[in-house]
Amino acid sequence: MRLLVVEDDPDLNRQLVTAFTEAGYAVDKASDGEEGHFLGDTEPYDAVVLDLGLPVLDGVSVLEKWRRAGRKMPVLILTARDRWSDKVAGFDAGADDYVAKPFHMEEVLARIRALVRRSAGHASSEIACGPLLLDTAGARVTVDGRAIKLTSLEFRLLSYLMHHKGKVVSRTELVEHLYDQDFDRDSNTIEVFVGRLRKKLGVDVLHTVRGMGYCVTEPEEAGKG
Ligand code: CA
Repeated sequence: MRLLVVEDDPDLNRQLVTAFTEAGYAVDKASDGEEGHFLGDTEPYDAVVLDLGLPVLDGVSVLEKWRRAGRKMPVLILTARDRWSDKVAGFDAGADDYVAKPFHMEEVLARIRALVRRSAGHASSEIACGPLLLDTAGARVTVDGRAIKLTSLEFRLLSYLMHHKGKVVSRTELVEHLYDQDFDRDSNTIEVFVGRLRKKLGVDVLHTVRGMGYCVTEPEEAGKG
């Protein structure tokens, strides 16, 4: 899962990026509206945190431009505490949720988790696939109740596939959602990560669809198509 943080306050920007990175996300950041708009317009994000008061181009304008261009990623806006009219303008521009400043980081993390899973079609914070369970709230993976220790990249990979359970995800799509923009990307490494992940999980849920990509499905459905 890959996020974009658009916030001009350098301390707050850093805090958000650190918190999301520690929670297992790939994170890109921007400190003004123009840069933020460009990234959101050209890179695929699973969710965006967008401050409304931004230099160069304000947050509401950034959001309006994304939505007009058909960009559908979930967007959480950051608003000033007493500015109810900002919230209204933000929602009308296409925001999905908001947090008023100052906020608790835990709340932002929880709201982003909810937006990411909702947009992937999951109502519950736990996503199951046979014996495999992804607890999105605790960033934990278990197989038959046994905790599986994963590196952050392995977790990101599995989390993306679990959120899109039953769908074939191409290597290109995986690369785009696992790494931030500064990372030296190589889609060949995905195969290596998938291999390691299979070994660690020890259950037959992560399938290679030849020439297409990867798909997480219940073990008994394996080989059906
Ligand atoms: Ca600001």
